Amino acid sequence: MKTPLAQPVVRPSDETPAIPLQMAPKRRGKPPRHFADLTPEERVASVVEAGEPAFRATQLATHYFTHYTSDPAKMTDLPAKSRDALATTMFPELMRPTRKLEADGGTTVKTLWHLFDEAKVESVLMRYPQRTTLCVSSQAGCGMACPFCATGQLGLTRNLSTAEILEQVRAAFRSLAEGEIPGGVTRLNNLVFMGMGEPLANYKAVIETVRTLVAPQPEGFGMSARNITVSTVGLVPAMQKLTKEGIPVTLALSLHAPDDDLRSELVPINTRWSVDETLDTARNYFEVTGRRVSIEYALIKDMNDHAWRADLLGEKLNARGRGWVHVNPIPLNPTPGSIWTASDRDVEDEFVARLRGHGIPTTIRDTRGSDIDGACGQLAAEEDDE
Ligand code: SAH
Repeated sequence: MKTPLAQPVVRPSDETPAIPLQMAPKRRGKPPRHFADLTPEERVASVVEAGEPAFRATQLATHYFTHYTSDPAKMTDLPAKSRDALATTMFPELMRPTRKLEADGGTTVKTLWHLFDEAKVESVLMRYPQRTTLCVSSQAGCGMACPFCATGQLGLTRNLSTAEILEQVRAAFRSLAEGEIPGGVTRLNNLVFMGMGEPLANYKAVIETVRTLVAPQPEGFGMSARNITVSTVGLVPAMQKLTKEGIPVTLALSLHAPDDDLRSELVPINTRWSVDETLDTARNYFEVTGRRVSIEYALIKDMNDHAWRADLLGEKLNARGRGWVHVNPIPLNPTPGSIWTASDRDVEDEFVARLRGHGIPTTIRDTRGSDIDGACGQLAAEEDDE
């Protein structure tokens, strides 16, 4: 396939050095073990070990997964002495919300969390007329070094534990159940692993989280797998593993360029797994799970928004069959200090029209929360001096 000459290497600003790819975390300290880290069998074993009858495991799970409480003081159907014992062994405090920012009349809420070791992560809750979505973090920082992404500039601090991810979810369910978000009491329907971190680089904790999200109440949150989206830069071996899990979550692939030259700039892991390998793996995910894959494509002015790139993307997707994929272009949310900006509206329209011309379902993703730095790729927990 003929493509124009590769562009010169462009970084978000001249002062911005290339960030190294980082597969292993800087910190290895583990958060305390929490009830939400455990499988249903492990919960029983743990309460028995704490000297409690086995049925307490179901009582605790009911409190946690259907009343969204992790405070044993509020579990008034338990004897007082059991509450005290279980509080320390099963429900250590894992994280504190230190700041909440609201936008869209309070229907978008970003929460900044401080973890036990003062690592910081963020989650964003977005209520729409027909659904409510939570965007969770799976790592503190990220090692994937994508130059246009705010989290990518931080490097990886550490992986989150299963319970640290599930606590973000519980807090969202609770806030919705208590009517804190305008529009009345509601439930969380959608969850996207599009906050800080590369979920497939923290595979074990993420897959355990997914299992608990989809387990029926009271064993888990009873969410539907198809309403859970795991977004990845394209870690091919982990994508292959996810394909075999038998849990039909939606897979989103952050492609951002259809050609290796540019993609290796924008998504450095592309130097390890090429566009073609990554797309083949995504196509196989559809083949095995029946779930249509989402291709994420941040439109960056004069970088990756050319009509020929839309055509090349359309051709590469169609070369792998029809009906297996849709594309989500996202106008770039510029990160501080970056010279990159979002594509012009007419360029964006042309990009979308070209893809649709190839028969590819294409929808522009909204950038809710951009005014509170709560939109795609803007999450970069600040070092504050409180
Ligand atoms: N590491 C995962 C998930 C986190 S980012 C991944 O890369 O897929 C979620 C989505 O936001 C990804 O598609 C990512 O490429 C995109 N994104 C990152 N920075 C962005 C920015 N500044 N503007 C628009 N989208 C961005």
